[in-house]
Amino acid sequence: MEDDAILLHGGAGSDNSYSERLEKYAKSVDMKSGALDACVDAVRILEDDPDFNAGTGSVKRLDGSTQMDAAVMVAEGFGSVIGIERVKNPVDVARLVMEKTPHLILEGDGAISFARKMGFPEYDPSTEKTQRMWKKTVEYLQGIGESIPERYAKYRKYADMFDIPLSTDTVGAVARIGGKFAGAVSTGGASPMMRGRVGDVPLPGCGIFVGEMGAVVATGVGEAIIRRMLCHNIYLQIGKESLVEIIKREIDEFGDVHVGVIAIAKDEHASYSNTSMATGFHIF
Ligand code: ASP
Repeated sequence: MEDDAILLHGGAGSDNSYSERLEKYAKSVDMKSGALDACVDAVRILEDDPDFNAGTGSVKRLDGSTQMDAAVMVAEGFGSVIGIERVKNPVDVARLVMEKTPHLILEGDGAISFARKMGFPEYDPSTEKTQRMWKKTVEYLQGIGESIPERYAKYRKYADMFDIPLSTDTVGAVARIGGKFAGAVSTGGASPMMRGRVGDVPLPGCGIFVGEMGAVVATGVGEAIIRRMLCHNIYLQIGKESLVEIIKREIDEFGDVHVGVIAIAKDEHASYSNTSMATGFHIF
């Protein structure tokens, strides 16, 4: 009999010292109502913890706005929100997209008005830390002159702005309960980024994929993850080798672009990242 279990991550690049907190959060989740509830509960807790880049504490766009992406997936369904603003828990809205609408993905204004109809009140997810980070980014981009690193130079033409604080600490969860799998992910995105930029998190197969064989979620540079359809790619290989070997081989393809993955299958789970990544695991 496979154990019921949940595995959380605190983002590619996150401080490993967060692992203790993640384990505590993993333990606190109620597993009685199944894998989807457990993942959504865990991600909601992480969205409410301002140290993580999801929900409260989401990093800002170059224009100072906060747009968030979130997704949930089970073998039978998928729901996500893209660029949602002024709500406390994007993961709950993503779940309702899956359960209450004929659609899979809602974006921008449509996602916000759907959230309001579902009873989500106005909420400002900014914190002093995200405000400080944004200011620092802008000052950096404006002040760097000709020596701007290539990674940032491309943003110049989009904003009058530019050691830029890089965002980390996106959150994700995968669970196996009663033999069923689920996954959930949530992020403010990968700073620096333009308003409207969409990462891997809300795109099925990219930042998340769940089926009868297991659940896989990713974190790191969304643009690179999307190009490789990372989670679907890993999912299709489940059972052919050990999960950790599959994940490691796929992540090695990313070179020095930061990426991490957590996954759970019938009788194994694995996490691997080419940078630091806090994780928390709990067997119920
Ligand atoms: N993958 C997220 C994005 O690109 C960011 C992250 O995981 O750190 O939006």
